[in-house]
Amino acid sequence: MSSAPHIDLNDGTRIPQLGFGVFQIPASEVAVAVGCAIEAGYRLIDTAAAYGNEEGVGRAVADSGVARHELYITTKLWNVDQGYDKTLRAFDESLAKLGLDAIDLYLIHWPVPGRDLYVDTWKAFEKILDEGRTRSIGVSNFTVDHLQRLAQESPVVPVVNQIELHPGLIQTELRTYGTEHRIVTEAWSPIGQGKGLLDDDTVTTMARAHHRSPAQVVLRWHVQLGNVVIPKSVNPDRIRENLAVFDFELSDVEMETLTQLAPVGRLGPDPETFEAP
Ligand code: NDP
Repeated sequence: MSSAPHIDLNDGTRIPQLGFGVFQIPASEVAVAVGCAIEAGYRLIDTAAAYGNEEGVGRAVADSGVARHELYITTKLWNVDQGYDKTLRAFDESLAKLGLDAIDLYLIHWPVPGRDLYVDTWKAFEKILDEGRTRSIGVSNFTVDHLQRLAQESPVVPVVNQIELHPGLIQTELRTYGTEHRIVTEAWSPIGQGKGLLDDDTVTTMARAHHRSPAQVVLRWHVQLGNVVIPKSVNPDRIRENLAVFDFELSDVEMETLTQLAPVGRLGPDPETFEAP
């Protein structure tokens, strides 16, 4: 069984560096996938209210036989629930669906700057944190502008910013801001959604040289950069493969080669404009 090391967060807690993402895993399948991931050694599970599968995640956690304090559960507040009172209600619903007394990390899923509610939402997050119903609070898809605004309005610094990040979108500005302000960068779609990136000649050649898969090479690049990563898979072999990245190393040259791959841009929405639904 593999396991991921932990990374220190700015509030004194720690997060596993590699976790299991469950976006697009149907509610009917998620408990099996999460059960497989926990058995393989994953301890961080990343879900969201919008994924519609929190209940299945909770069931897998309850059935896992792994002590609750060894697991790290993240969920996210959906866009329509932003605002102080709605956030408090939405959090109660997520907690009930997960069947937990508390979660480890609660994230604002998207900033939705057009509605300008993320500061009020963050105030509700602070209350939930004070009540001990989440151990940490953070954000997702925030740009530097959004993070700076939050810093002006609140003394509580997000522990992480979960953003789209892979060798086709290296997010230098946000990673630098995160390092300077002790906000850990967590990468979503870390293997580029399993498409073009994993067929790139540079990536496949490097993978062959290490006797690893292309996905493992890309995940190792993240790990050496200091990112937290949350690859998704419903395939048991790939679930295990994606966690087995802590027993080999990329050279400085290989790291730089991956960083310099041709940019492909965003695979997902633009945080400045994404509101839906
Ligand atoms: P990923 O980069 O994790 O790619 C997942 C895809 O790659 C799936 O199609 C999967 O197929 C395939 N795959 C997985 N492992 C391998 C492998 N070893 N070799 C080849 N193909 C592989 O993309 P996601 O978009 O799913 O992102 C991961 C997680 O990030 C999400 O599940 C979610 O938790 C989070 N996320 C957060 C967002 C946010 O706004 N905060 C937005 C999007 C994602 P298969 O399942 O068949 O193995």
